[in-house]
Amino acid sequence: MRKLIAMLIALAFLTPLHAKVHVAATIPDYAAIAAELGGERVEAISLIKGAQDPHFADALPSHVVRLNRADLIVLTGCGLESGWLPPLMMQSRNDKIQPGSLGYLDASTVVTLKEIPMTIDKSQGDVHPGGNPHFYLGPAELYAVAAAIYDRLKKIDPEGTAYYDGRWSIFRATYQRKTAEWRAKLAPLKGTKVVEYHKSWLYFLDWAGLISVGALEPKPGIPPSVRHVTDLLAAVQGKNVRFVIQEIYHPQKLSHLFAEKSGAKLLLLPSMTGAAPGTDTVWAKFDYIVNQLTEK
Ligand SMILES: [Zn+2]
Repeated sequence: MRKLIAMLIALAFLTPLHAKVHVAATIPDYAAIAAELGGERVEAISLIKGAQDPHFADALPSHVVRLNRADLIVLTGCGLESGWLPPLMMQSRNDKIQPGSLGYLDASTVVTLKEIPMTIDKSQGDVHPGGNPHFYLGPAELYAVAAAIYDRLKKIDPEGTAYYDGRWSIFRATYQRKTAEWRAKLAPLKGTKVVEYHKSWLYFLDWAGLISVGALEPKPGIPPSVRHVTDLLAAVQGKNVRFVIQEIYHPQKLSHLFAEKSGAKLLLLPSMTGAAPGTDTVWAKFDYIVNQLTEK
């Protein structure tokens, strides 16, 4: 008994005295970044998986539990999660993560959004009425989000400042090394034309110097029709479209048809971490995308 008590006391001293910072991210990329920056001081989870469509996720009771204990929520914003997150936020009964609090990080406020329409029109079911929310596919945008997560972690857990500073310098160095590597690999593809299934890839394509000449979806969130795909085929005739790129969670029938008729190669790419095998970090996600695009 005495031995057991001694062991328990020893264990109590071994366990860090501070409670972990609980980070809830809507998509796995932000959770992966928070885990990388937070190390042993942070516990990070993602509400949805990389293979799910973030526009149309289900609001699950388990999400409420996770949000209830969160010290920080990181969301994309720009309407990406507006179909499922707001009721969960309300049901979480957690004041720490409500809009305007230190524990609420809307990533769309720290990046420059693209494709912001002149007028907002949701009438036709467009799921990008406030601009393109898929900036987690842009290495530079994702780096800006990482910087914002780093800043919040220090504010929420100031005792860990030196620890977070150390991990941030590693993250920054990795970013510089990896982006140089990706740019070198992608350089020969500059100006290559692609067709997207959903308009998710703009931030990545702009960063890499590739050009999107159209999307299989007539509007973001509206499934492709044979009519639209036929029109698009006619429009890109002779334009040398090299790739059709899409997420794994979209149907592939019309993508295959388009690829076959246009001579382009269909690539199923992970838009979020974990959507393809071995892509559990943001570095591995972009490695995968770059390798697929540059594979001979
Ligand atoms: Zn979208």
